[in-house]
Amino acid sequence: MKKNYLFTPGPTMVPAEVSLAEALPMIHHRTPQFSQIFYEVSEDLKYLFQTKTGEVFTLMSSGTGAMEACVANVLARGQKALVVISGKFGERWAELCTCFGIETITIDVENGKAVNPSDIEAVLKKTPGIKVVFTTQSETSTGVVHDIKAISPIVKKYGALMVVDCISAIGVHPLMMDEWAIDVAITGSQKGCMMPPGLAFACVNSTAWDVIEKADLPRYYWDFRKMRKDLKDKTTPFTPAVSLVMAMKTALDMLKKEGIENVWKRHARLAHATREGAKALGLELFAGEYSSNVLTAIKAPKGIDVDKIIKKLRDETGVTFTGGQDELKGKIIRIGHMGYVNDFDMLIAIAALEKGLYEAGYPVQLGEGLATVQSILVGKK
Ligand SMILES: *Cc1c(COP(=O)(O)O)cnc(C)c1O
Repeated sequence: MKKNYLFTPGPTMVPAEVSLAEALPMIHHRTPQFSQIFYEVSEDLKYLFQTKTGEVFTLMSSGTGAMEACVANVLARGQKALVVISGKFGERWAELCTCFGIETITIDVENGKAVNPSDIEAVLKKTPGIKVVFTTQSETSTGVVHDIKAISPIVKKYGALMVVDCISAIGVHPLMMDEWAIDVAITGSQKGCMMPPGLAFACVNSTAWDVIEKADLPRYYWDFRKMRKDLKDKTTPFTPAVSLVMAMKTALDMLKKEGIENVWKRHARLAHATREGAKALGLELFAGEYSSNVLTAIKAPKGIDVDKIIKKLRDETGVTFTGGQDELKGKIIRIGHMGYVNDFDMLIAIAALEKGLYEAGYPVQLGEGLATVQSILVGKK
């Protein structure tokens, strides 16, 4: 019998409570009932982004929709932007900027490494006129976490806007919108929020508003100005994904109940245990010291076809990991531990990894990874 365990970098596992909320009978969106739910979701999202003064918009799209909305709302024709690229998602910022005709300067970071904040400073210093800096908190394609807290003051020092893709980081790593002076931060529903795909969220502060008012790139469906006006009336410019918004209310209630600090701590613990478990099996981490708590990226051992292992585990047992994309294809295994995951889920993940490696002929001492993860999770190690 197969049982699905998504240790994937999104979509992630969804609690039954959330699915049940999504299955409730439809309500019309121009009603006091929906407005109340939408208002509560929008308020609770501020807690997720750790902001008191920012506003959070709910977008009816996957995460990339929010990325496009950011580009369309914060830039004007002829302006320059800086993009930090350390994997597929940084690349996406650059593609979007180029698509909108923005002069795009990039900092290309080696896969598996995080950007050195002083490299950003060097570019800002020698290139006048950069209006916006686009970064990624957790680069999901490589398993790297960037030091957004250290980058933000540098960007501010040069008067640029700080826009961060926190799509896989929110609800996993601390992101302090106000304290770190982030101007725009975005996330998607299917990562740390324990939700199905389909919603994205953009948190915007007052510095960004001044820019958004003056921006002049074409925008219609993704116009933050329309969303802001309607949010004041507890509604959305167009028909919202009603069921997903209702489910999001439940997901946020669960996150609030656990407490965001505890949510961060849980992820740190599970990530640590997973990394140590992999090392106990003689495996090497792809992102080393830059490893995020979102997922553990493991280097493919020499001579082992990791994509075959991933496919076999998925098809035969339902335990799903992912491999690398593009130039990382066949080179890494990514084990997600974000969202609705607990100690025992990670024991399943490591046991599955052992099985997959064993069957592929990798010399694994069965139980060694498990013993390490278990020891860490019970506090023995
Ligand atoms: C998942 C993800 C995205 C984009 O997501 P879609 O929801 O597939 O559009 C962008 N950035 C990061 C860091 C992600 O993890």
